Amino acid sequence: FEMIDKNVVIIGSGYGGSVAALRLCEKNIPVTLLEMGLDWEKSGQKFSSMINPGHSAAWLKTKTIAPFFNLFSLEKYTGALDRLDFEHIKIWLGRGVGGGSLVNGGMAVTPKKEYFKEVFPNLDAEKFYSKYFPLANKELKSNVASEEFLKDCSFYKFNRVGEEEAKKAGFKTVRVPNVYDFNYMEKEYKEEVPRSAFAGEVIYGNNHGKNSLDKTYLKKASATGKLEILELHQVNHITQNPDQSYSIDISVINTKGEEIQHKIINTKKLILSAGTMGSLELLLKSKAMKQLPMDDKIGKDWGNNGNFMTGRNWVKAFSGGTGFQQSTIPVGGIDHWEDKDRPFFVEIAPLPMGLNVATSLYLMVNKLKKYGEVNYDSVTQKLQLNWDQSHTAHMKDNAKYFLRTMNKANGGTRAHLLFHNGFGADVCYHPLGGIVLGKATDNYGRLNGHKNLYVIDGSLIPGTIGVNPFVTITAIAEYCMEEIIEKDFA
Ligand code: FAD
Repeated sequence: FEMIDKNVVIIGSGYGGSVAALRLCEKNIPVTLLEMGLDWEKSGQKFSSMINPGHSAAWLKTKTIAPFFNLFSLEKYTGALDRLDFEHIKIWLGRGVGGGSLVNGGMAVTPKKEYFKEVFPNLDAEKFYSKYFPLANKELKSNVASEEFLKDCSFYKFNRVGEEEAKKAGFKTVRVPNVYDFNYMEKEYKEEVPRSAFAGEVIYGNNHGKNSLDKTYLKKASATGKLEILELHQVNHITQNPDQSYSIDISVINTKGEEIQHKIINTKKLILSAGTMGSLELLLKSKAMKQLPMDDKIGKDWGNNGNFMTGRNWVKAFSGGTGFQQSTIPVGGIDHWEDKDRPFFVEIAPLPMGLNVATSLYLMVNKLKKYGEVNYDSVTQKLQLNWDQSHTAHMKDNAKYFLRTMNKANGGTRAHLLFHNGFGADVCYHPLGGIVLGKATDNYGRLNGHKNLYVIDGSLIPGTIGVNPFVTITAIAEYCMEEIIEKDFA
């Protein structure tokens, strides 16, 4: 048992936590960053591919947890991908230094300005589009693949088929930026460097090519010499002290997930960046167990960002399918957002199974019609999520319409081989909200009723942003930290 005093602690090393760390360290403020997952780079271990899952494939599970085809047994290990299973929804998350950036598809999408204004009426949209979004994209090293390369590359047949078919069905397609380095990818294609996107690596981590946060924000923050990263530090709960400082109860774990040490860290200022589900769990649990003062808005306005997965089988089955080899990095989208009755955005997702499955996979992003709510059950000591089919019914209607239109124009069937009935209503990669900016916090992430407790992560976005969310999470973190550092750290 150890008791330690610090000035500034951040919990979680995803997008919010990494931005906070860099901006504080740059101002010469020493920061301790607590992360429950592994520091993969330091560990020297390799990430595993989708067709050969190893240590990085799952957080303390004995079977793989991909969205489908979980045929593989695993040794229990502190892997990079986790999945939280609720009755009607499964939520995937990244664990490790870099958070979700280790396991995500790298799609770096700036939301539509009109929708951003609708979601955040209190924010200065002009300033976001002239300052914070460009800054986020620059720091994240967002880049775009060359059309020349995509036109011929055999690994992007799935995308060419996806775009051609969408156009034929009357949909508009868009090129999507990514943080995977496309210069590296071109070399990968020519086999001049080790392959990663072309070797089935993504949701269990990329060994090369991807500019995850450990290569961008966290690398810069570490270079200041002011950042201390403590891996395998799982925060259990938080207590507020009479002098408005906080005590953090921590289990230091080994790679089997067993506690090897118990620590208390006291800190003057605490930044909660444990991701939407992590920050909600810590706040609601600490309220239930340790009487941490809490606004009753916490847990409200939660959403799945309209995530709805679906697909089509028998796609070009008699003329070559979607390709034997597939890049794991998506580059195409279908923009159907302007349709008033059925607005949606679709990611043309790869299915890198090492087989030509003649199947197209789509991750739809819809609007929300109804918010979910997150609570903490003190008896089971677990998060509870109020979310069921009534929340996703309109997303399913949109998916039906999308598939019907695509199949009518191109042939193919609903993907019964991927999902029950062809619809993955329960697949969520983008949990958002619950600690909403300007509601549960002030307009800069200062938690209501607290002086020294901040929330900086996806939970600030009220359940929906219309596109893949990490560029928005990063931009909001930049905006909040600018104000917080100027006013509260002067
Ligand atoms: P996170 O990135 O989730 O980071 C939170 C960190 O806190 C984690 O490292 C976690 O281990 C740590 N933590 C949590 N609880 C504790 C605790 N109690 N103690 C210590 N540490 C803790 N978004 C896009 O924009 N584009 C994409 O292409 C894309 N693809 C995705 C694909 C997959 C498979 C997944 C799972 C997600 C994808 N996302 C994508 C979503 C994106 O990764 C998340 O929205 C983003 O990572 C959320 O950032 P965050 O800062 O809120 O938290």
